[in-house]
Amino acid sequence: MDLSSLTIGKIVQGLESKKFSGQEIIDGFLDNISKKEKKINAFISVFEKEAKEQAKTIDAMVSAKRKLPPLAGVPVAIKDNILVKGKRATAGSKILDNYIAPYDATVVKKLKEAGAIIVGKTNLDEFAMGASGEYSAYGPTKNPNDLEYAPGGSSSGSAAAVAANMCVGAFGSDTAGSVRQPASACGIVGMKPTYGAVSRYGLIAMASSLDQIGPLSKNTEDARILFDIIKGRDEMDSTSCEMGREYGATDKPIKDLVIGLPKECSGQGIQKEVRDVLEASIQKLKQSGIKFEILSLPHLGYGVACYYIITPAEVSSNLARYDGIRYGMSEPGDELLDTYVNTRAEYFGNEVKRRIMLGTYVLSAGYYDAYYLRAQKVRTKIVEDFKKAFEKVDLILAPTLPTLPFKLGDRLDDPLSMYLADLLTVPANLAGLPAISVPAGKSGNLPIGIQFIAPPFKEDLLFSAANYFENEITPRHS
Ligand code: GLN
Repeated sequence: MDLSSLTIGKIVQGLESKKFSGQEIIDGFLDNISKKEKKINAFISVFEKEAKEQAKTIDAMVSAKRKLPPLAGVPVAIKDNILVKGKRATAGSKILDNYIAPYDATVVKKLKEAGAIIVGKTNLDEFAMGASGEYSAYGPTKNPNDLEYAPGGSSSGSAAAVAANMCVGAFGSDTAGSVRQPASACGIVGMKPTYGAVSRYGLIAMASSLDQIGPLSKNTEDARILFDIIKGRDEMDSTSCEMGREYGATDKPIKDLVIGLPKECSGQGIQKEVRDVLEASIQKLKQSGIKFEILSLPHLGYGVACYYIITPAEVSSNLARYDGIRYGMSEPGDELLDTYVNTRAEYFGNEVKRRIMLGTYVLSAGYYDAYYLRAQKVRTKIVEDFKKAFEKVDLILAPTLPTLPFKLGDRLDDPLSMYLADLLTVPANLAGLPAISVPAGKSGNLPIGIQFIAPPFKEDLLFSAANYFENEITPRHS
């Protein structure tokens, strides 16, 4: 069976027409996992037995001629910071090494109801902090396109698993680019929804004002199907909302779109190979009639600095719950304080500790105004930049990563250079906007992605444009 050509639509159709059985599909993907996992390290857990049982249930439905749910028999993988009831959820950290999720995240509940088969939980940078997958306590994931390269992060395992045909779709969390960056580096599609479009219930919190769960897939159509399943208001997350009227069919034909090109996204800090791919994509879109307008997002350059104040602040508060008493691992001491200190010193990794310290500092009396409050004001400026831009254009186009994927180990000892990978993805998170990264070219065997960014809740427009780009401009699946 050619796993690489299987999409969600093809699986459901093939099951209905009895071209193949659910068991054949699952066996194909599980075999591929066991063949490749040693090299790639995309998974923290694999659920072979349950996956096979679920496939049998789907096959029984087919035999009984029952209507199949929309994701019947579709193998998906879930980032290990999203809860699946009864399974480990490590968030890539030793501190949660023994933690078993007591309930399903809303996203997982919806996927199960839709008939998806969860094949495993994927590797990630510890607590989703990182841009390469190398900050996982469970070893780095490798880029399936070239095993010497990092797959991007923090949803490293989810992207690698899709790219290596170990599942059809996967889910990650995107706080500053953690779905889009690994999608770009692995040559697949990754989408970050509007803040609030998808419930965060059951997502282990990193920075609650920025975190969103999003799909990773081979093509934009699958990403759209997966997003449609997980979106919507959930009473367990007060920041979630129903996709409003805005989420309807786009009334504007694609060719009448005006796309904005922020001049800050194609300048000096962007590697030449990436600029070339962006330029080639623009030229092709132009030939099909789409108009472009150069614009400025003047505060974009402050995004990374602003993010690395707001996020540590939220991290220092969100991660206070890992105290050796309530969750996960414990290193007991004589006094309560010793238990806290021993546990956190022993089981948190360096990047997590760095952020907790930074966050505690920027929130402390005397520094709050100078750092945290100021960063919040800059965040508002970035929101306003986008608002202004969207008065003139329908969408914004930019590279996803400022550079080519980097080699494993290259940035490991230099946190600042790791942070710079977020330059072009972090603005959408700070402004709460939806964005999608799609493959646009390659340099050697290293993939390069570009991203479309849309106004809030214009996911439909986002998918239409990305789909047009994929099918008309870079047809790979014909
Ligand atoms: N590189 C970002 C960070 O380390 C990615 C965060 C994310 O999107 N989860 O914070």
